[in-house]
Amino acid sequence: MVRTGGCYCQAIRYELEDDSAHDFSVCYCEGCKYASSSHSMNLRTDTDKIKVTKGTPKVFLDTKTLSGKPMKRKFCGDCGNSLWSEPSAAPGKAFVKVGTLDDKSGLKLLVEVFCSNALRPYEPMPKGTTPQLTFAAGSAPFEA
Ligand SMILES: [Zn+2]
Ligand SMILES: [Zn+2]
Repeated sequence: MVRTGGCYCQAIRYELEDDSAHDFSVCYCEGCKYASSSHSMNLRTDTDKIKVTKGTPKVFLDTKTLSGKPMKRKFCGDCGNSLWSEPSAAPGKAFVKVGTLDDKSGLKLLVEVFCSNALRPYEPMPKGTTPQLTFAAGSAPFEA
């Protein structure tokens, strides 16, 4: 199965030619926190199975990783959306941000990493007790 995906503004598009890519990790490292406030969901694949079909991702060489090993972080230079990372600690492997996939179905959580670094500023509310806000088009944000 070929999965497709892209950044938020769609300037970058990619194909993932990996039948076996369905295991994802949740990562609480500092880089993922900066990218998404708390954590990333990363689909494990091989770098050579990602084919960029539109645009050219920018590359940031992250040298402040918690593992101490540098990691290439690919992202869109237009919308700033993180796309995938290529850690030097796992040569040939790439970790694609699940949120950038067009179809996010059929994925399975395999492992959580850097859990002691997780941002846990509050206890989750019991299901059904959190205020649920819905925004109609044109409505002011944060008014229920
Ligand atoms: Zn973009
Ligand atoms: Zn991370």
